[in-house]
Amino acid sequence: MSFLNDFFLLSDDNNANELIDNWRISALRIILSSGLLLCLAITFDTFSSAFQLNYLWVIANTLGFTSILFLLLLASKRFYHACAHLLLVAIVLASFVMNLTLTDLTLAKIGSMLIFVCPAIALILLGRRVAICYALLNIAPFYIILHDINLSQYTNINKQLPDASWYITGVVFLFFNICVPLAVARTIVAAKRLNEATLNSNAYLKSKNELYHTFFAESTTPKIIVDDMGKITDANQQAIDLLKLPKTLNSETLLLSSVMPNLKTCDAAKQEQILHFNNTYQRVVHQQLTDANFCVYEFHDCSAEQSIKANLAAMEQENRRLRYRDAQTQLPNRDWFELQCDRLIAKYRKGFYVVVAQSANNDYLNIKFGNHNSQTITKTAFKRLRNDIEGPLLCAHIGPGKIAFILGSLNETDLYSALPKIKHILDEDYNLLGVKSSQSFLFGIAHCPEHGDASGKVVAHAIEALKLANTHDVFSLYDQTNSQSFLEKYEISMLLDEALQQGELTVHYQPKVTASGQCIGLEALARWNSPILGTVSPAVFIPIAEEYRMISRLTDLVVQKVCSQINQWTQQGLNCVPVAINISLIDFSQTDFMSKLVKHLADFTVSPKQIELELTETSLEANQAHSLILMKTLQSWGFTISVDDFGVGYSNIARLADYPINKLKLDRSLISQVTTSARQQSLVRAIHNMCEELSIKCVSEGVETAEQVKIMADMGCKEFQGFYFSKPITPKQFFAHVSQKGLVFEHQDTLIKA
Ligand code: C2E
Ligand code: MG
Ligand code: MG
Repeated sequence: MSFLNDFFLLSDDNNANELIDNWRISALRIILSSGLLLCLAITFDTFSSAFQLNYLWVIANTLGFTSILFLLLLASKRFYHACAHLLLVAIVLASFVMNLTLTDLTLAKIGSMLIFVCPAIALILLGRRVAICYALLNIAPFYIILHDINLSQYTNINKQLPDASWYITGVVFLFFNICVPLAVARTIVAAKRLNEATLNSNAYLKSKNELYHTFFAESTTPKIIVDDMGKITDANQQAIDLLKLPKTLNSETLLLSSVMPNLKTCDAAKQEQILHFNNTYQRVVHQQLTDANFCVYEFHDCSAEQSIKANLAAMEQENRRLRYRDAQTQLPNRDWFELQCDRLIAKYRKGFYVVVAQSANNDYLNIKFGNHNSQTITKTAFKRLRNDIEGPLLCAHIGPGKIAFILGSLNETDLYSALPKIKHILDEDYNLLGVKSSQSFLFGIAHCPEHGDASGKVVAHAIEALKLANTHDVFSLYDQTNSQSFLEKYEISMLLDEALQQGELTVHYQPKVTASGQCIGLEALARWNSPILGTVSPAVFIPIAEEYRMISRLTDLVVQKVCSQINQWTQQGLNCVPVAINISLIDFSQTDFMSKLVKHLADFTVSPKQIELELTETSLEANQAHSLILMKTLQSWGFTISVDDFGVGYSNIARLADYPINKLKLDRSLISQVTTSARQQSLVRAIHNMCEELSIKCVSEGVETAEQVKIMADMGCKEFQGFYFSKPITPKQFFAHVSQKGLVFEHQDTLIKA
């Protein structure tokens, strides 16, 4: 069955020959096959009688036509048109041959009628034109038959097979009844199938049309269809309203590019773009139809979304602006600077210097003129760096009064030759509230990547270096060791600051005694027991307090505590001895020093006679005129003035004669050597004698042995202070001691538990 189906091409699904329909080839094969079977049957049937009667033309004709049909059948698919034409020619030939070879005229007429089937076959196989030709051609046989023309008279054939009438009538009968009807039936089947396919595709188109209406024409989303030339071929009502398109699109050529010039038409399968159109924002979705050269464009109004986005973007930009600008000066800030540095690090592998510049008297300017006014200096310096000097890059205001910039592509020598030029321009006069003000800028420098591989570190190191810069060392390059000790000091200073605020510091008292141990005074010594650092020696925290300008607060606290203590002891009935307080150089140069001191005394009703002020030699010399006036005033109030640590450094006793001094405390370093060195003894004796001359009392500080006491006492020294008699003790210990033993501190009595 399947062979028959394939051979006769009974199916119309797959087109065997792209140019010719299956059903035509199928019809040709049906005619040829059925004709061939007919010919074969006649050939076999006539062969023996034709052979016996020696009718060779019968054999030739039957064999000839059988062969022709067979060959045509073989070539029917490949050479369809030739075969179809040859079949028709063969039919014409057959009817002609029958007329020529049949002696019976009636039979010859029947045979000739075979030719009348040609138009029908031609119509099926080759179309109406060929059919018309054959219809016209048929007039000739029609004429011959009508006028009883016998063509056999023109041949020598005057005999025919006895059963010739069977054969001829049979051929005509079978050809008209079977061969041609089968071909027609095949044609009808094909027509039916075609009809079915058409109905199906109509139904499909109908459903498509419904889809088109639902998804396109009646869609609430504006949609247009554009061909590959960019012409708008269709648009739904929404699109017509949105794009203001004419109602009849077909009548004119309307290009999408003329309606929306900004729209990018691209060949990508599906794309989205957002366009500003007629005061709205439209998200245009563009989808290419795969089976045709058409694109569908959909328009979604996203104005609200866009305006939110635009607002967000504006806010983000404002945030960025705020984030990267100093709020007060409006100059680029530290975040911006570090960001730029990081970019530079990523891009520029050669390394560069980060420089932070600040006016040396920045703090003073802030206090005197206020932060706002002193910023004019920062702004002017920033402008000078940006506009007047070649070299500095990426200037930014990274902290109060601090301007950072970058110097790239330099070695250290170049750096140190570039910086003075920059300093020179930065130091030029500034106009501060209408007054000319000259500045001296200090510079902290750090190198990237040597001093840090990230901007944050390098900038922090440059700032650290700046803290170590001073008038002698204007350009301070970051040094890790300096910085380490700096950091430690800085941390201690922070803790000390807190300790001062919390009143965490206490005061211990070391007795000053006569040679026999009679207490004639006390020295107040600050003690700091930090919860974090533990006990910190005054030798550590006092210099830090001085460096970080906290010493005045510390002195203030000690004076207050001492006054309060004297007041308490007095109330406890203790016969109070004068208490010495250490005063630093910075305290002494404060204008309100005197007033603050007096205030505390007044608060606790303490007399100046009960207070001794210990100053170092250097503090007197720093500002001689001022020191002299202050000392005289203090003395006039009744305070005792001592010079502490005499003998350390370049002590000059002769110079001391110029100051109103009551006491001189000989430093431990001098006393410790009196027992071992005769020379040292002579020196101390000389100092002692000179003090006697000047009516200055001498105090031996840091006496640790009986021998030291003896030697100094022999010299005439009347006052001693040292571990030999007592270490510095708490007020409680002092009170307990005095309560038990009175104001006597003999060697063995030193530590009496409170
Ligand atoms: P200073 O004013 O010369 O105080 C005497 C220092 O010598 C004290 O050390 C004391 O404990 C120590 N000392 C006393 N006798 C002996 C002894 O026999 N042998 C030894 N080895 N040392 C002895 P301290 O308390 O550590 O104070 C050190 C320095 O810190 C003080 O030297 C003073 O300059 C300063 N200081 C202490 N408290 C204050 C304060 O409240 N204000 C200021 N401005 N400075 C203070
Ligand atoms: Mg002292
Ligand atoms: Mg001392």
